[in-house]
Amino acid sequence: MAAILIDGKAIAADIQEHLATEAARLRGAGVIPHLSVVLVGDDPASHTYVRSKVRTAARLGIDSRDYVLPASSPEAEVVALVRRLSEDPGVHGILVQSPLPAPLRFRTVLDALDPRKDVDGLHLYNMGALMAGGTAMPPCTPAGILELLRRSGTDLRGKEAVVVGRSDLVGKPVAFLLLHEHATVTVCHSRTRDLPAVCRRADVLVVAAGRAGMVTGEFIKPGAVVIDVGINRVEGRLVGDVDFGSAASVAGAITPVPGGVGPMTITMLMKNTLTAAGAAW
Ligand code: NDP
Repeated sequence: MAAILIDGKAIAADIQEHLATEAARLRGAGVIPHLSVVLVGDDPASHTYVRSKVRTAARLGIDSRDYVLPASSPEAEVVALVRRLSEDPGVHGILVQSPLPAPLRFRTVLDALDPRKDVDGLHLYNMGALMAGGTAMPPCTPAGILELLRRSGTDLRGKEAVVVGRSDLVGKPVAFLLLHEHATVTVCHSRTRDLPAVCRRADVLVVAAGRAGMVTGEFIKPGAVVIDVGINRVEGRLVGDVDFGSAASVAGAITPVPGGVGPMTITMLMKNTLTAAGAAW
């Protein structure tokens, strides 16, 4: 393997240490940082994610409470809960775990959220603010990716960045964050012609397609920085969207799965919660 490994786990641990210090400072000043999590239905992966978020919050000194509602909950009830939490001065951050079970509409529920408490950065206000150049609440995975690039010493100015995937959750917001860092950004999707050739232009390649091992070494320019966002379960194992073996022999630096972007996502969620509680960075 030629590539340097970008160790998301270690970088996340380092940031979390700093977050715990800030949480302690807030508590000392009489502000108890609080995250409320709304979970509807019984999707096992969502329950696992929520448990992990609650555990991490507790470790960092952030209070949290999860509201678990049955899948059959009427939309008006979920909206009313989000509205009530938005109005509660003791609640700093609110997270609505996605996906919501049908027929609940994620966008309708998020509309009820106070954007200042939107720690996932998915409210339309925060998405617009991100596009316009800056938001205090960037979406967690894209913010985590930028932090990985920063801490691995990747200078983005004038670089060719290619993002594979155009979701509202990852692809689009990460493209804007890269643009704000002065990269020249190309966003690819399922209709992109000759994806390998477009990817080979990239100095920085971010892959968020949800297709296990789709990006191989042939997609990668020698020496490029490769960020693999994908989380796919294949034969009981977690794998990324990048075929690690072939990619690592060409790339200059690469994130592993697991242990790359994943730990950064939850870390940025905690950071946003502390920002909402008034942290000074
Ligand atoms: P979505 O399914 O919402 O979006 C996938 C995107 O990839 C779409 O824009 C789609 O194009 C594009 N795409 C799919 N297949 C291809 C292809 N063959 N060639 C080019 N583009 C393609 O996924 P998300 O953005 O929500 O997530 C992406 C991955 O990241 C998933 O594996 C997910 O599990 C993971 N993830 C990881 C997180 C972490 O913390 N590490 C957090 C969030 C997500 P089109 O729009 O044309 O359909």
